[in-house]
Amino acid sequence: MTSANAPAPKTVLVLIDGVRYDALHKVNDWVGLPNLWRIVNDGALWRNVYTLEPYLTNHITQKILTGHENYTQNYTIFQRLEYLGFRTASVGTNPWDGRGARFNFDNLYDKNHKYLSDDVRIDAACKILPQVDFVYVYTVETDEYAHVCRDGRRHVYSWESPYIWAIKRTDDRLGRLRGWLDKIAPGNYNLIAIADHGMTDNGRHSVATWTTEVVTHVPVLACGVNFKRGWKIDRRFHVTDLAHAIVNLYDPRVPAHMFNDAIVRQATHERAPSSVTA
Ligand SMILES: [Zn+2]
Repeated sequence: MTSANAPAPKTVLVLIDGVRYDALHKVNDWVGLPNLWRIVNDGALWRNVYTLEPYLTNHITQKILTGHENYTQNYTIFQRLEYLGFRTASVGTNPWDGRGARFNFDNLYDKNHKYLSDDVRIDAACKILPQVDFVYVYTVETDEYAHVCRDGRRHVYSWESPYIWAIKRTDDRLGRLRGWLDKIAPGNYNLIAIADHGMTDNGRHSVATWTTEVVTHVPVLACGVNFKRGWKIDRRFHVTDLAHAIVNLYDPRVPAHMFNDAIVRQATHERAPSSVTA
């Protein structure tokens, strides 16, 4: 346990669009994903997290950010954390997804991969991090390049698949982000990554049903000050479980839910209301 008024950790949630669960193993075997696996080895991997219908990013991201199926009528992580007195930022998603964030960089929502928007998003997240407690950053090129496979009638794991290299570049970016966290918040950060949906072999997701394993099964991994090291969680969860667990990192009154077995319980943070101080 840390002292009663420890500074709040900086938590970054990275949403990696369209990365299927088996990429963690397959792409790692082929080209190496050292930064993703460093998060897993230093923290926790949830091996049975599933997304929900419909399999369209703009629906699922809002379910992830509110923790509710009925995402239009519930508060976002940003609204909940800001209410508790913490500072938040949303980078690279549409304005509605980022509602309630103190810094809502919706102008970085750009699905044209020729602008290398994911690099810009990670840079923007790094730049705002010193000013906030929680940053959500949305990255898209993995999904975009899976659809290049779809349009070229190629298997996402075939020869010259750009999907593999998009995942590899995402791994590089996670390494860069973590290096920055180590620098500005040494020993007091959390880094969490999740995908909104997977991908069929031929680079599609909207065609899926709930029985399509490669589309519904998504990776969730986390490491940092609040997480135990080397944990593998096999209980089944849904992507809507994550929002509540993240709020728990800042407010112990909220059940930790999917983080239950994997977190190190922290003392109340200094920006939380005095009513929850032990
Ligand atoms: Zn897509």
